[in-house]
Amino acid sequence: MSDPLLEVRNLHVHFDTYDGVAEVINGVNFTLNQGETAALVGETGCGKSVTMKAVMGLLPSARIPEGEILYKGENVLELSDAKLHARRGREMSMIMQDPMTSLNPVLTVGEQMIDVLKWQGKPRLSVTNWVRDRLGGSTSAEHRERAIEMLADVEISAPKRVFNSYPVELSGGMRQRILIAIALLSEPDLLIADEPGTALDVTTEAKVLDLLEELVEERDTSVLYITHDLGVAREVSDYINVMYAGEIVEQTSTAELFADPQHPYTRGMLESIPSLSTGIGDGIEGHLPDYTDPPGACRFVDRCPYAEAACHEVYPYPRETEPDHTVACHLFDGSPVAEHHHELAEERVNIGPPSWTDASETDSESDAVADGGSAQ
Ligand code: SF4
Repeated sequence: MSDPLLEVRNLHVHFDTYDGVAEVINGVNFTLNQGETAALVGETGCGKSVTMKAVMGLLPSARIPEGEILYKGENVLELSDAKLHARRGREMSMIMQDPMTSLNPVLTVGEQMIDVLKWQGKPRLSVTNWVRDRLGGSTSAEHRERAIEMLADVEISAPKRVFNSYPVELSGGMRQRILIAIALLSEPDLLIADEPGTALDVTTEAKVLDLLEELVEERDTSVLYITHDLGVAREVSDYINVMYAGEIVEQTSTAELFADPQHPYTRGMLESIPSLSTGIGDGIEGHLPDYTDPPGACRFVDRCPYAEAACHEVYPYPRETEPDHTVACHLFDGSPVAEHHHELAEERVNIGPPSWTDASETDSESDAVADGGSAQ
């Protein structure tokens, strides 16, 4: 197995709000290996983007009371702002989810790309110095050539014209390709793609995802995909981390997750995927908990059809139910993954085994995804 590039360990992220402390991320653990593509999947509001922003050091108003984010073995939470800024520019990059608002409307595509090439990894630039630089009007031919080349790499058919265009002159699909081009300009080791196809129509989304997959494979870039869509995660990732209410509830390889989904939330998401044969599924009733007052033990307890009294009282620590398959649920037995849960594991709570042992049920869920449906 390749070395870990990114390791998130017991990450907690809190926000102070007028209603109290919102405990949005609660003990998240996951690893992304060199050259691997992993997905962070869960419904809107479950904490995926907050986790991603914590990794990038983009949460100035949050508190991180516990946890580590190890990038190449170094805890990014302990890096100085300047070091983090330099790393973010050169080694870590991201694609934002909304191509309509993520580009600067008053600069041409070329100006925005040249800014990235010119300033990546450099100390923070004041607006005054940036304006002075622009008035100086110096644009290196090398930067211009590299930007146009990158536009061609993302299959923009008239790269020179697009280089001189303003975002408003371009379609959503083209803007998303430009965001991909900008994110890959610095040849990053880690790319975080935050729902890169969500704002596009289905056909354009498929094309953009295929293109992205090809580009990162050519460059051996490690990618963390953030998505609410299990169908997309299945297409693009080697490994899936299912997130619910700020916790990772299941993690395993993509093939294993679809062959043997275990956590009730994962199963609920799979059942929500529309299928050509069975139509739209029942979905998961209820909604995410209030982060200022979440349930004390299992955060999924109010929506879980298998919940029992113990689920309200004892935290379902993540446990390894099979090699490289981790589930945070009392329906399953297994050794705790984190050292600090060993003590809790001694007061063993097991309400399982789960009642869904009919293999044909799982097959039909996998078929639903194979039909091309997506969980919204
Ligand atoms: Fe459901 Fe209990 Fe498992 Fe939570 S711990 S997912 S409530 S069965």
